[in-house]
Amino acid sequence: MWFRQDLRVKDNPALIKAAKQSKVLPVYIYDTSVPQNAVLGGASKWWLHHALVALQESLDGNLLVLSGDPQEILLSLCTQHNISSVHWNRMYEPWAIARDTAIKKALKASECDALSTNGSLLWEPMQVLKKDETPYKVFTPYYKNGCLNAPDPRYPQRKPPLSFMDDMDEVKGYQGVDSLALLPRVNWDLHMQEMWNVSEQGAQCKLEYFIKQAIEEYNDDRNVPSVAGTSQLSPYFHFGLISPNQAWYAVHDAFNGSRENKGVYVYLSELGWREFSYYLLFHFNDIQNRNFNTKFDNFPWVQDKEGLRAWQQGKTGVPIVDAGMRELYQTGYMHNRVRMIVASYLVKNLLIDWREGERWFWDCLLDADSASNSAGWQWVAGSGADASPYFRIFNPILQGEKFDKEGAYVKKYCPELSKLGKKFLHKPWEASEQELLSANIVLGKDYPKPIVDLKKSRVRALDAYKTIK
Ligand code: FAD
Repeated sequence: MWFRQDLRVKDNPALIKAAKQSKVLPVYIYDTSVPQNAVLGGASKWWLHHALVALQESLDGNLLVLSGDPQEILLSLCTQHNISSVHWNRMYEPWAIARDTAIKKALKASECDALSTNGSLLWEPMQVLKKDETPYKVFTPYYKNGCLNAPDPRYPQRKPPLSFMDDMDEVKGYQGVDSLALLPRVNWDLHMQEMWNVSEQGAQCKLEYFIKQAIEEYNDDRNVPSVAGTSQLSPYFHFGLISPNQAWYAVHDAFNGSRENKGVYVYLSELGWREFSYYLLFHFNDIQNRNFNTKFDNFPWVQDKEGLRAWQQGKTGVPIVDAGMRELYQTGYMHNRVRMIVASYLVKNLLIDWREGERWFWDCLLDADSASNSAGWQWVAGSGADASPYFRIFNPILQGEKFDKEGAYVKKYCPELSKLGKKFLHKPWEASEQELLSANIVLGKDYPKPIVDLKKSRVRALDAYKTIK
C-alpha cells in the first residue's frame, strides 16, 4: 500500500482493497523527483512530518518511510519481497498523473499489478461533464447540475483489519520519519505546535466540534476572521488525514440529509469548491503556472521586490493585510476572507503577478494545495475560471471595518495597534498625531506608513486592466 496524500487508516479505499487482498506492506515515499513547483514548502513539510508520525502509530509502527524515486523504490520492493500488487489512491496534479501512469506501466511490465482508486474526492473529475461531454467552467452549474445529479459519493468505511508482511522486522530497519528531516532547523513552529493536533483523531475532533458548535451559524460567521466559525480542516483534507466523504456524510447524517439550514448548505458547497479546484486542475492542467484566461498573458504586472517583501512580512501599513500575512507566518493558516483581501491587495494595489503570491502561500500554508491555491489566486486575480472580475477591487479598509468590526483580529496579529480606537484601526494613517500618540504609535516607527496609496493604486490597477480588456 503506497500512501501519498491519504495519510489515514479510516475510509482509505486503497488500503481497504490491499487489506482484503493479502498481507500488507505500508510504505510512504518522500518523492525527490517531483517538479520544482511541487517541492513541499516549509509549512507543508512540518505538517507532513507530524502526519507521518501519527500514521506510523495507527499502523503499529509498520509504516516503511523512504525517500527517493518512487518508481525505483516500488520496483525494488516488489522484487525483494515478492509483492504481487501495489495499491494507491489517485492524485490529480498533472505531474503526479504522469508519474503514476509511468509507474503503473513499469510495475505491470515486471508482472506486478498496480491498482489505483479514488480516495480524496467526492466526485472524480472525469465523472462530471456537461451534456456535450466537455468540462464545466463555471462553479454553480458544475456543482448543482453536475455533482449533485451524479451518483452519491462513497459512504465512508472503517479501518480494515490489517495483517502485515511476515518480514516486516527486516523492512523496518530502513529509514524512519526523522530521516526525512522535514522539521525546521530554526524554531518557528511553536505556534503551530500549540494550534494543530496533526492526526486522524485531530481531524475528527475538529469536524465534530464544528458540526456541534459552528455549522449552523457558518453562513455568517465564516466571514469573520476573529471568530472560530469555519472548520479549519483544509490541511487535514490536503494530506488526507480525513476524506471529504467523512466530512460530507458526518454533516449529512447530523442533519438527517437535510440541507435546509443555510450554514449546512453553504458548508457542503465549500467542499464543492474544493472539488471544483481539482476539477480545473485535472481538465485544464496548467492552472498553477498559466492564466486560465489567456488575455491575462499580456497583463502589465510590475516587478516590485520591496512591495513583495513588505507584503510577505506583514508590513504594508494596511492593518487587515498585515494581520493576515502575520497570521499566515505564525500559524501556517489564514482565514479565507483574509486570503481574498491580501491576495487582492497584492495583485491589484501592488500590481504584482499572482504567481508570486501563489508561491509565498505555497511555502507558508499548511494546507498548500496545487488545486485550491492556484484556483484561489486566479479567482482573485480575475484570470481564473468563473473568477471575480478584475475590476472588482477589494477596499481593505471597508473589508476590515465590515468583517473585523471590533478590530479583534487586527489587534491579535498587529498588537502595536491595540490601543488605537475603532475609528482609525483599519486606517491609522488618517488618525491625527495626537490620536496616534495617545495610542503609543509613531507611524513609520512602531507601525509602517502605507506603502501605496489605496486610491491611486486602485486607479493604476484599473488602467492596467484596460490594456488587456
Ligand atoms: P471551511 O470554511 O471550513 O471550508 C471547508 C472546506 O472546504 C475547506 O477545508 C476546504 O477544503 C474547502 N474550501 C473552502 N473554501 C474553499 C475555496 N475557496 N476553494 C477551495 N476549497 C475551499 N485552500 C486550500 O485548501 N489550500 C490552498 O492552498 C488554498 N489557497 C488559497 C489561496 C487563495 C488566494 C484563496 C482566496 C483561497 C485559498 N484556499 C485554499 C481556499 C480557502 O481559503 C481554504 O480552503 C479555507 O480558508 C480553509 O479553511 P477551513 O478549512 O476552515 O474552511
